[in-house]
Amino acid sequence: MNIVKKERSSSGLPKNKQSLNSSNGNQAINLYQEIPTMEVSLDDFEEFALDRLKVLKRLEQLKLRHVPAEKHKQYLDPLLSKLNNPEKDSISHFVLRLAYCRTEDLRRWFLAQEVALLKWRLGVSSGSVKNLKSVLPDAAKSVSQKEMEELDFELKTGTVGLQSLKLPLFYKVPFTLALDLVQHRQVFIKKGMAYIPESKLVHLVTSKFRAHLSRQLVLLSSVPTTPALKRTQGFLKNVATVHAVKDEFANKSEMAASLDPQNVKDHLRNMPLCMVQLQVALQTERHLKHWGRLQYGLFLKGAGLSLEDALIYFERMFTAKTKDFSKEYAYNIRHMYGKEGKRQNYPPYTCTKIIMSNAPNSNDHHGCPYKHNTVQQVSTMLAKLGISPQQQKPIMAQQQSGQFTLACMEHFKVAHPNAVTTPNVNLDNVGNHPNSWFEASVSYHKVTTGGGDEKSPSKTTTTTTVMDKAARGALKTPKAVSP
Ligand code: SF4
Repeated sequence: MNIVKKERSSSGLPKNKQSLNSSNGNQAINLYQEIPTMEVSLDDFEEFALDRLKVLKRLEQLKLRHVPAEKHKQYLDPLLSKLNNPEKDSISHFVLRLAYCRTEDLRRWFLAQEVALLKWRLGVSSGSVKNLKSVLPDAAKSVSQKEMEELDFELKTGTVGLQSLKLPLFYKVPFTLALDLVQHRQVFIKKGMAYIPESKLVHLVTSKFRAHLSRQLVLLSSVPTTPALKRTQGFLKNVATVHAVKDEFANKSEMAASLDPQNVKDHLRNMPLCMVQLQVALQTERHLKHWGRLQYGLFLKGAGLSLEDALIYFERMFTAKTKDFSKEYAYNIRHMYGKEGKRQNYPPYTCTKIIMSNAPNSNDHHGCPYKHNTVQQVSTMLAKLGISPQQQKPIMAQQQSGQFTLACMEHFKVAHPNAVTTPNVNLDNVGNHPNSWFEASVSYHKVTTGGGDEKSPSKTTTTTTVMDKAARGALKTPKAVSP
């Protein structure tokens, strides 16, 4: 792929390439084994990647929110329609490879979402079985009729999920190419060969794709950048950490009216664990270091704290290590609000940015607890918020398996019972953005308390009431803070 400084086409596709067939359900399956060789403008390079990123993020959200599979189409189709051109699809994939190969966490996230996208496409493609055969591993051989008759009993009893007594077509492959099926005892094995029914071919293809992409991402991470790619470095770095939701909270949220220096700590029940950790540290240590100030300051900005109120709030709180707040920190806070330096309207950090960048040292408080703290530390924090060991189980299970954002989502579900079915509670991006967590929680408490404000915490659920008490207790500090 050669990046050139040329004008993009009006339709957003690479010039001279628009005659290639548009996608429909029968588009050939692309396992992205060939690097695109065409020229692409810098604008297209960036826009294609962002379009794909939106699809991958949406897939992740659907999983996080446990949206039933039959509803995925309505959420995915509008975004996928932008990737319908095969070349755009291929370019966008390879651009994101460049962006997401840099660290193990990024590679893992990208791999999981790309496999989910492939599964989705294989599931909805009307000509999927025919298309699948064209991308099966070379070692896959169809089982002859004679062999099927000989193995009739074994195939029927050893294959999970056969729908009828008449055997479908089978393929046999070395069992190492179908490890997930073998691991879950889904298929019959003989002499090192796994016998895969036609209905499970998709597993073979996704396994092959996963293995190939995983290998390629690792290889790519060690390749030095080329001069042609140098000017894309800033974009590639940002796209992997800032994500498609980066500007969503750049301005004051609808909660603006309700957040002020007096009630920030009353909103503790609406904060995800990373922000609870920072608020508690601020209350107890009366100070936050640079990255903690940025992470928490931008979060509060996105949650609706105005610049004037932020200056008042942090001045009141920063009573340790501070001789002259105006000199030492006011510039820093004004900078966050775009009033100093480059005067940029900085958005709050997304979960990906928090998880992927600036890992905290032992006496820092920024970062994502699920990623940067031990399981024991997280469990202690949750217990202080009134979450019982039983309720903690799904949260800890996700943290232990490295699914940090899913752990956060589980925390939300425990802290907000029945939130999924509560009207007017938007769970989009909960687990992807701390401010989404905050806004969903505020909406939830408004509905469940009949519009009560933060100074009249919920009395409707035991869990939230206990959390409030525990949180307020955890925030008690030796010195009283004058509001
Ligand atoms: S997943 Fe996101 S919102 Fe949740 S604790 Fe981690 S950084 Fe915060």
